[in-house]
Amino acid sequence: MSILSADILSTKADSVRQRSTPPPPDWRAAMRAAIRDAAELRRRVQLPADEQPTTRLASEQFGVFVPLEFLQRIEPGNPADPLLLQVLPAAAEALSPAGFRQDPLEESSAAKAAGLLQKYAGRALLVATPTCPVHCRYCFRRHFAYQDIPQGRAQWEPVLSQLETLTDVDEVLLSGGDPLALGDELLEWLLARLAAMGHLRRVRWHTRFPIMIPQRVTPSLVNMLRQTRLTSIVVIHCNHPRELDDAVSLSLARLVDAGIPVLNQAVLLRGVNNSVEVLEQLCRELINRRVMPYYLHQLDRVAGAAHFEVDPQVGQRLVAALRTRLPGYAVPRFVRELPGRSAKTVLA
Ligand SMILES: *Cc1c(COP(=O)(O)O)cnc(C)c1O
Ligand code: SF4
Repeated sequence: MSILSADILSTKADSVRQRSTPPPPDWRAAMRAAIRDAAELRRRVQLPADEQPTTRLASEQFGVFVPLEFLQRIEPGNPADPLLLQVLPAAAEALSPAGFRQDPLEESSAAKAAGLLQKYAGRALLVATPTCPVHCRYCFRRHFAYQDIPQGRAQWEPVLSQLETLTDVDEVLLSGGDPLALGDELLEWLLARLAAMGHLRRVRWHTRFPIMIPQRVTPSLVNMLRQTRLTSIVVIHCNHPRELDDAVSLSLARLVDAGIPVLNQAVLLRGVNNSVEVLEQLCRELINRRVMPYYLHQLDRVAGAAHFEVDPQVGQRLVAALRTRLPGYAVPRFVRELPGRSAKTVLA
């Protein structure tokens, strides 16, 4: 079923994790220090250079961005490392089989304003920033028209005015990009504006920072999330148990200790987590850290990501197998996003 099996926690990976490291730089310095070049990434993980023009094209179309905090969890010399596969440009990105498109979710038609999407009752999604703490090769927004989304307070005004008119919305999702890529000052301002909208009750933070640059989760950020009138819910994105090292665990504990619900969504990815052993271990490691598995997503059929696709029937069998191995609350819902539906479609 998979190229991965029980060797998820290889001894080599354990030794990587236990290596003593100096204190992490602050999160902005970590963003600046991130690797942005495929050749450099290959050197750092001790892989030979790849001069194929298709691979070069892949990184030109969607740039490399890998923080050192994540890099150190990658097993050197292993081209099939499940963490590496998520971030290393591949020649296969040039393939575009039928059905894989630039805007697979037809999000452009769900836009209420540039950067404001409403597809589902009661929930609206703000594309808060184009910036992410990592570039995931399978990202469904890899072709998103980020140049159109608001940057800075003045450009936010029309979006917020539009949100103000959506009085049946009680939950706003902050997505992107990654909302935590905005600095605390801008977030504080944005939260105050949202809290002033009487119809809103909850703010959901969709973020990969706790996994990628865990030092972003500072005590002052946690306080901000806790002190707003709106109930904060954090949804992280972790695909493989080896993404959860000690620093990540600490950042998650900070959130949960503050009483903030933390949920995880994962994407079912060929070569990364398409085995019952990996998914089981992922779910266990999450619940051990008080993070609830929420969704396992069928890959969105975005151009350039076809090589990550797993047959949805395989996904259904994997989730059925998880159900026989894990507590009920530890099994995520297996869903896919289909354009024009009033909710995500539950596959298992
Ligand atoms: C996935 C998604 C949501 C949230 O859906 P939930 O099932 O509540 O997690 C909201 N808006 C958009 C545009 C989405 O894609
Ligand atoms: S963090 Fe999320 S939005 Fe950013 S590249 Fe990865 S999948 Fe895409």
